[in-house]
Amino acid sequence: MLDADFFRRWMATAAASVDREAERLTALDSPIGDADHGTNLQRGFRAVVTALEKEAPDTPGAVLQLAARQLISTVGGASGPLYGTLLRRAGKALGDAAEVSGEQLAKALGAGVDAVMTLGGASPGDKTMIDALVPAVDALGTSFEAAKAAAEEGAVATTPLQARKGRASYLGERSIGHQDPGATSSALLIAALVEAAGE
Ligand code: ADP
Ligand code: MG
Ligand code: MG
Repeated sequence: MLDADFFRRWMATAAASVDREAERLTALDSPIGDADHGTNLQRGFRAVVTALEKEAPDTPGAVLQLAARQLISTVGGASGPLYGTLLRRAGKALGDAAEVSGEQLAKALGAGVDAVMTLGGASPGDKTMIDALVPAVDALGTSFEAAKAAAEEGAVATTPLQARKGRASYLGERSIGHQDPGATSSALLIAALVEAAGE
């Protein structure tokens, strides 16, 4: 079972990973965006870590909803409300249980990803974070490792796609040949689950 500590570790691990990869995320956002994805998420996840230390929410749902509020209020840029929605919806789905199963987490994140698609209007194949998140959530029923691999594959597979949502879509065909920054950060977020689980 996964308790609030697990979810705090997930967010802290994700924050550390975003810190390590911030330059790469920003570099990916340079040819097909405005070169701020790494700094956007770094600001957001640092705020998440600070808030979690200060408020110490004691259920998985409360951890995710607090993280969501920080991302929405600090990230700025498209990815803030989208990641905020992912975690807020997932947190709501977990309710106020003290511990949740891997299966419940998979279902909750599935609801979160659906909410991101509703908010942003993107579908798989549009070259967005959805291309990493959808396969990851599908694989979560198997294991965190499988979800991590699926997210990484999904992120890499955005390279040959033409963007149909977000800033990159303004480039039309010129968006082809570049890996999507948001799909790349989504893969980091999912990979952090494996580390948080100590797998
Ligand atoms: P901005 O484009 O406002 O500068 P970021 O650079 O932080 O925001 O985030 C860009 C990422 O957000 C993209 O790489 C893409 O994955 C994701 N994104 C943008 N628009 C959408 C959307 N409508 N649906 C899903 N993801 C999106
Ligand atoms: Mg950007
Ligand atoms: Mg921007």
